[in-house]
Amino acid sequence: MPFVAINPATEQVISEIPNHTPEEVDQILETASRAFQSWKKISFAERGRVMKSAADLLDSEIPVVAELMTSEMGKTFAAAKGEAMKCVMTMRYFAEHAESLLREESLPTNGSRSGVRFDPIGVIFSVMPWNFPLWQVVRQAVPTLMAGNVVVFKHASNLPGCASYLEDLFVRAGFTPGVLSTTFVGHDAVSDIIGDPRVVAVSLTGSDRAGRSVGELAGKHLKKCVLELGGSDPFIVANSADMERTVPMAVTARIQNNGQACIASKRFIVVRERADEFLELYAAAMGAVRMGDPMDPATELGPLVSRAQRDELAAQVSTSLDKGATALAGGSVPDRTGFYYPATVLTNVPRDSRAGCEELFGPVAVVLVADDLADAIRVANDTPWGLGGAVWATDKNEIDEAIAGLDVGTVFANAIVASMNELPFGGTKQSGFGRELSAFGAREFTNQKSFFVA
Ligand code: NAP
Repeated sequence: MPFVAINPATEQVISEIPNHTPEEVDQILETASRAFQSWKKISFAERGRVMKSAADLLDSEIPVVAELMTSEMGKTFAAAKGEAMKCVMTMRYFAEHAESLLREESLPTNGSRSGVRFDPIGVIFSVMPWNFPLWQVVRQAVPTLMAGNVVVFKHASNLPGCASYLEDLFVRAGFTPGVLSTTFVGHDAVSDIIGDPRVVAVSLTGSDRAGRSVGELAGKHLKKCVLELGGSDPFIVANSADMERTVPMAVTARIQNNGQACIASKRFIVVRERADEFLELYAAAMGAVRMGDPMDPATELGPLVSRAQRDELAAQVSTSLDKGATALAGGSVPDRTGFYYPATVLTNVPRDSRAGCEELFGPVAVVLVADDLADAIRVANDTPWGLGGAVWATDKNEIDEAIAGLDVGTVFANAIVASMNELPFGGTKQSGFGRELSAFGAREFTNQKSFFVA
């Protein structure tokens, strides 16, 4: 299967790139392997210099690449520009801070000198999703590159333009060819690449289904693996929540990126005392979300990425309605061109319905009522995933109870869960393992080499 981009707003095919042949993949891995030999010896200052050039170049091209993202996967133009800017900031951050994040640490023992170094390990193979076409690659690759590794990535097959753009950007910025390269390959070739001796480690961001497959292959070949997978993040509304602030944020948390973010809040768990108030305001706000052309600045919600993704979401909702759930807003596919699905609020969702137990990768919010905060935390943790979680409360004790109680990789209070350069990002349970960003992410693909001098 070639890489094909279909504009989700128009349903038109806009570009296509044939898959690499096995010989071309071999050449890409060889070039990467050779590039590693020189890149690993380059100083942090020099790595940082080219990384800053890539950041400046991307900064100057934001409108162009944002339009490319919007056309390939349907996110709003405003969101695409924001994503590109976030990439610029991350490139600059790690260009500046990688040296201190990866500095050798002294760990005193009875020797004269001892500690741990963070040495690069080689070619990292990275399998990436479509939902943040630039950001996912940057988040994974930039700290890893700054640690002295090289990255070969396989992007999602609906993003041929974004995949090509990224490789080209790094080369134009002055990176040696092979430090960051893309492969256009299908799932079968992923297995061969993971098994190739020139590849030392694997990273995948995507669904838990893909994570199982790639994780199994990494295990078979005994290669280090980081998995950033799905989630059904809770958004807890506690007794002390400031409702005026909470409701608009609950809308954004669910419709950001057209509802297709791993860390989008998907289950809104409200304590009984505040439930009626929240439901009334939230259903009205979600019902008022402006859906439309993602290039239109007034649009808040663009189309879903593909017909298959839209139909899957529609089936998850309709079968749940059949089982007794209630739609307070949205809930059906509009009659228009493009893979649109409206902002939807579901209540009375049976636990055994699809909306009650699956990840909803689109703008559909499930609202659940809990007896109190302890019960809300119990409901929040009652899922196979553990990516992020948000709590909305003005009382410090309530905030601290949620931070301590949620079994997730990241908890945000009174803010939408986001990835930040300074904080490690990753999940618990079936949301995966390993961390990206911060010192924790930069060190994931390093040899944490202990040394001891008697
Ligand atoms: P996906 O279908 O799992 O695809 C992700 C990547 O894996 C794509 O490049 C895909 O290639 C590849 N892939 C899928 N199955 C594979 C297999 N059996 N063998 C080898 N490669 C395989 O996920 P998606 O639909 O792009 O993204 C949505 C999912 O990603 C959601 O579950 C979301 O929560 C999760 N996600 C997680 C994070 C995080 O940081 N934790 C971030 C973003 C998204 P093709 O395109 O060629 O199929």
